[in-house]
Amino acid sequence: MVEEQTNINVGAEQKTWQILEEVKDPEVPVLSIIDLGIVREIQITSPLSSPAGEGSGVRVTITPTYSGCPAMDVIQMDIRLKLLEKGYKNITINQSLSPAWTTDWMTEEGKRKLKAYGIAPPNPKQQFCSPEMFQQEAVQCPRCNSLHTEVISRFGSTACKALYRCLDCKEAFDYFKCH
Ligand SMILES: [Zn+2]
Repeated sequence: MVEEQTNINVGAEQKTWQILEEVKDPEVPVLSIIDLGIVREIQITSPLSSPAGEGSGVRVTITPTYSGCPAMDVIQMDIRLKLLEKGYKNITINQSLSPAWTTDWMTEEGKRKLKAYGIAPPNPKQQFCSPEMFQQEAVQCPRCNSLHTEVISRFGSTACKALYRCLDCKEAFDYFKCH
């Protein structure tokens, strides 16, 4: 009996990860919050398919891309709305600030989507990031793949991005900053 309940929860958890795949980053709509790697944990407190049906509960733990990112409020609201739409009633969203999100948590699929969208994905070699490293890092142009680029502004269209210019194809592009 206990085992059966566990199986229901595992299935419901997998399904919920798929549901959250539909929640997009409001700043970069091609990326889901799963691509971003900000969803840390999903716990089913009461599965949707439970015989009682009522009170289906889920707890989602997310880590903000950086504290104070205005997009996080929108993301939390979008998660809640999406889960309500799918039938969950008791929704708890926790924020976990430690360990801090890093661009390493972004999925390979997410990095590929970013590039296709015309935003340079975070530098894969980078583990940590300081203002000094940020200035030195080589950023690849998402259009022509040239590493011959220069920073125009530390802040691009949003605080999470920096504005760069490619010295080869002369195009300006956003770079998804490390934090
Ligand atoms: Zn270029």
